[in-house]
Amino acid sequence: MTVPLYYEDAYSTACEARVVARGDDGIILDRSVFYPGGGGQPSDRGIIRWGETEARVTDIRRGPAGAVHVLDVPGPAVGESVECAIDWARRHALMRAHTALHILCGVIWRDFKASVTGAQMEVGAARMDFELERMDAEFSRDIEARALAEIEASRVVTSRDLPRDEAFEIPDLIRTRINLLPPGIIRVRVVEIVGLDLQADGGTHVANTRHVGAFRVVGHESKGRLNKRLRIALD
Ligand SMILES: [Zn+2]
Repeated sequence: MTVPLYYEDAYSTACEARVVARGDDGIILDRSVFYPGGGGQPSDRGIIRWGETEARVTDIRRGPAGAVHVLDVPGPAVGESVECAIDWARRHALMRAHTALHILCGVIWRDFKASVTGAQMEVGAARMDFELERMDAEFSRDIEARALAEIEASRVVTSRDLPRDEAFEIPDLIRTRINLLPPGIIRVRVVEIVGLDLQADGGTHVANTRHVGAFRVVGHESKGRLNKRLRIALD
């Protein structure tokens, strides 16, 4: 499997790696800074270089043998050393959006006891669905103000791996549907906004809520009697 360098340091932007497999659609590396996507966070884009060749990473697909980095030119041979560099502006925007969603999730659980039913993010924008009966302009502005206060509060964001049994004893994790994790997973990655939110999560995040920067709630809609969507925009 590919060593996930994006978990060791979400702020690392480049690495050297070796090609361990090569197919029609791309290459698998022994280690990578490219986040392969998941949990509502899109996969990274960027550049992979070897010899005189520079290829763009146009997609990343999770496969049984590791993340397949899809390239815009024929890939290097197995065994070749390559240099990876992610599109950092894009990734950082996605990290800000992802942490912003966890702030929303934490605030809405803490203050209104509503859980999350879905989430999706892109560069500069994100949406999250909540198990809520009512949602209107006034309520969405109230949530925005509460979330911005958590950004102001400069809360530290951490991640760690826990043994499955230990993770299943944390009440905050159980509410975020950790029980839906496949039985084969023996360690659970946990992302915590200290003092606000704790979730089983596979994404990449900024290190402090202050680094989310400003965001606005730009829309709300009903997706069902007990399902309300919030849309946010980040500058
Ligand atoms: Zn997440």
